[in-house]
Amino acid sequence: MSLDAGGADNAPPCPRCGSEIDLNPEKIAAIAAEMPISPSLAADEGLYKERLAVCGGCEALKQAVLCAHCGCFVLFRARPKKSYCPHPKGDLWSDTASSKFQI
Ligand code: SF4
Repeated sequence: MSLDAGGADNAPPCPRCGSEIDLNPEKIAAIAAEMPISPSLAADEGLYKERLAVCGGCEALKQAVLCAHCGCFVLFRARPKKSYCPHPKGDLWSDTASSKFQI
C-alpha cells in the first residue's frame, strides 16, 4: 500500500471506528502540512519522507493513511522529531538514515 495513492470517492469507512470520514491521502497530507509545530520540534523533510516510506511498506498501514497499531494518521505521527513508530516488534522508523542525525 502506498502513501502516494490517490484518494478515492466512495472509499471504505475508517477501519477503527467505522466513521465515514474522508481518508483521501492528499487531503490529509495537506492538513498535516499545516500542523502547528515549532520548526525546532519538527522532523526535517528528509526524516519525514523516510518515515512515511517505511509506513508505505508496512502491513499495519490501512487505507494508505492509518496505522493499525496506534490508530493515528501516520502523516501526523511522523511530523514531530521525537515521534516513534508503535510497531509491536519495535520502532520501524529507528533505522532510517535521517533518524541517526536528529537530536
Ligand atoms: S507500525 Fe510504524 S511503520 Fe507501520 S504504519 Fe504504524 S507507524 Fe508506520
